[in-house]
Amino acid sequence: MKGTEQNLTVAVRIRPHNDQEKLLGAGTIAYEVENNMVVLLDPTEDPDDILRANRTREKRYVFDYAFGPNTTQAEVYEKTTKGLIENVINGYNATVFAYGATGAGKTYTMLGRDDNIGIMALALNDLFLEMERTKNHMVYKVKMSYLEIYNEMIRDLLDPSLGYLELREDAKGVQIANLSEVEASTTEEVMEKLTQGNAERTQEPTAANKTSSRSHAILQVTVRQTHRLPGNKKNIRCGKLFLIDLAGSERASNTHNRGKRMVEGAHINRSLLALGNCINALCDKNGSRYVNYRDSKLTRLLKDSLGGNCKTVMIAHTSPASLHFEESRNTLLYADRAK
Ligand code: ADP
Ligand code: MG
Repeated sequence: MKGTEQNLTVAVRIRPHNDQEKLLGAGTIAYEVENNMVVLLDPTEDPDDILRANRTREKRYVFDYAFGPNTTQAEVYEKTTKGLIENVINGYNATVFAYGATGAGKTYTMLGRDDNIGIMALALNDLFLEMERTKNHMVYKVKMSYLEIYNEMIRDLLDPSLGYLELREDAKGVQIANLSEVEASTTEEVMEKLTQGNAERTQEPTAANKTSSRSHAILQVTVRQTHRLPGNKKNIRCGKLFLIDLAGSERASNTHNRGKRMVEGAHINRSLLALGNCINALCDKNGSRYVNYRDSKLTRLLKDSLGGNCKTVMIAHTSPASLHFEESRNTLLYADRAK
């Protein structure tokens, strides 16, 4: 999918070692080479390998971008997302996904920290700047919604009192009934709403990680542009930008979960699988593959925003450390399949 017409970008971001990984002296098994390749070392103890002095096998994966531990937030944003802003202003839809296991760095990339803001804030900064630049001949209206999909149920993170919301499809496209929309004109306003919304996210402690996120968090920014044409005519365009912090991709079985947790795992796997299948089908060169959006709420919601003229970015996240070999391999395979 290379070239100027590329509608799908797949990137991998490898975070720095965390304190636990440093403390345990965990080796590096995932690293980036030449800005677009990820090498994964398989710490195998297979007797055959030892016999052939192949103590470690390695597998190389090529993506559009490979970001290593020293890559800045700004660089990740500029390479993956900056280019989408113009599309959204011009009335096309675009989506950025952060994929990866819990603790791999998804929220860091999307939300970032106060002193190191992520893609959500950087994208909004650019969006508002571009609107400011063209305000003499354009009128814009920007609305945002923030929601989560948890166990195939949709909750409004800006107003959780609304309960579970319905997904509807009508002539205007896919809509979430009663979802609150907030008008926004500055990044600060939006970030404040996101911080409030995040406090409402469904966080269930699991054996793997106490702050594991079992829900997909979805920021939806709608930009309506009205161009004043001569003769008092109006040209209206509407573009949607989805910025999505996906649920942790680790397998339900990895977290020793029973009962409720196991159900969550099944739902998460189902929606991530459905998403992978949709992206995969949409990128099929001859475009004749059937795309099944119906398999999950996530893909149903994104039906109008994947494929066609829409831009899609997948940023897969991994730890660099040997402790997380299985997760990293699964993440790289998922991202590899999406290409
Ligand atoms: P996830 O959302 O995938 O569960 P987080 O984004 O919460 O993971 O990251 C886990 C921890 O690692 C957090 O403390 C986060 O600040 C840190 N972290 C993640 N990615 C990076 C990075 N690229 N640089 C520095 N710290 C990072
Ligand atoms: Mg997170």
